[in-house]
Amino acid sequence: MKMTKKWIGTQIVLNNISYNLLQRNNYLKKKLSLAKDVLDLDALIVWPDSDKKNLDLTIEICSELKIKTYLWYPILADISLFKIRPEQAVETFDGLHGYGVNGCWEKLGQGEEDFLFLCPNNKEIVRKIFHHYQQQIVEGSFDGVFLDRIRFPSPANGLETIFTCFCPYCLDKFHTDYHEDLNHYRNKAKSIFQELIAINIKDLFAYHSLSDILIRNNLKRLFDFRQKSIYQITMMFANEAKKRDKLVGLDLFTPSLALLVAQDYRLLAKTCDWMKPMLYCHTSGPAGLPLELYCFVKAILNINPALNEGQLIQEVSRILGVQLPDRINSLLKKGVPENIIYQERQRIRDFDLPESVKIYIGLEAIQISGIGYINKSILEKYLSSVLKADPDGIVISWDLLKIPDENLRFVGDFLLTQH
Ligand SMILES: [Zn+2]
Repeated sequence: MKMTKKWIGTQIVLNNISYNLLQRNNYLKKKLSLAKDVLDLDALIVWPDSDKKNLDLTIEICSELKIKTYLWYPILADISLFKIRPEQAVETFDGLHGYGVNGCWEKLGQGEEDFLFLCPNNKEIVRKIFHHYQQQIVEGSFDGVFLDRIRFPSPANGLETIFTCFCPYCLDKFHTDYHEDLNHYRNKAKSIFQELIAINIKDLFAYHSLSDILIRNNLKRLFDFRQKSIYQITMMFANEAKKRDKLVGLDLFTPSLALLVAQDYRLLAKTCDWMKPMLYCHTSGPAGLPLELYCFVKAILNINPALNEGQLIQEVSRILGVQLPDRINSLLKKGVPENIIYQERQRIRDFDLPESVKIYIGLEAIQISGIGYINKSILEKYLSSVLKADPDGIVISWDLLKIPDENLRFVGDFLLTQH
């Protein structure tokens, strides 16, 4: 029996490669032709470059090969428009900006992207970004937009940042929306850290999600506010694209981590045509499961050194429904078992989203030193889990130029033979 073909997309980053390299010996054209050939590629998600030549070349090749193009637009961090200064980033309950202390990834700010997050409620900055986004949609003839960095900071930025934001814009908006002073929540958030000092492993037995460990009922309003803020800015950017008949895709944290970064799948489903949960099981970078879980566990151990590392990881494994390596350092080396894809797909099913919103699972196929090295044996496990989870499509992430040809061929062959 032949299954219907899954939608296949991939991503490309154009801002750290020269036009000459892309063009030399038809490098880009050969790469895209191969992807079209072996994957029957439906779409390319393009992170443009300030130099428009790269983009024009890419769009021209895609139109020739009948590959749809999406403008990949990061809204709240790592935009090309300007460099975000730490003081412009979200504010924690004790007045830190952008990064927290507990569990913060040691390499933050050292790479090309610094993952400093702006506040979605900062109207002045959002207006500037929106204007730039409108220009980009008009200038490139994209078929759709792919909205990224639509979230608050993750555990990789330090656990304190999960409780942002207390900036003046948020204080104002919170007061308007709830007739309450957001400042009251500074202490409520802070007290979670006091509680964490005192917990023992048995206290965790009752929890069924990672957010249960951090989010108490007295913080519910703060977390509603965060989710609503992300929903509203996503809606604003998505509507602008829809007005111009563009499709809208969203780059999202996987359900087990989504609440921590204020992404509410049910709300966000109202804004888009498809969602890409990032199920990166082998990426040691923000949004990658190994790094986010590593930082999450490290933060709790840092706050409460009396907890046993192995036991804590055991509880996190129970909550996620997959067996993680028993040391946090092994998490970064060995990654997270690929069968988490099936679990997370089930969690998305439980959200009961409208059928019109498609789910395209994002998995990495890159080889980047220090970040992630995906080979055929990992891909085989990935793809088996993906097929079992039966999503509407797959996004082979996240930079086509860092995906070896043999990985592309392997994915193509695997999907063909499993039909
Ligand atoms: Zn704010």
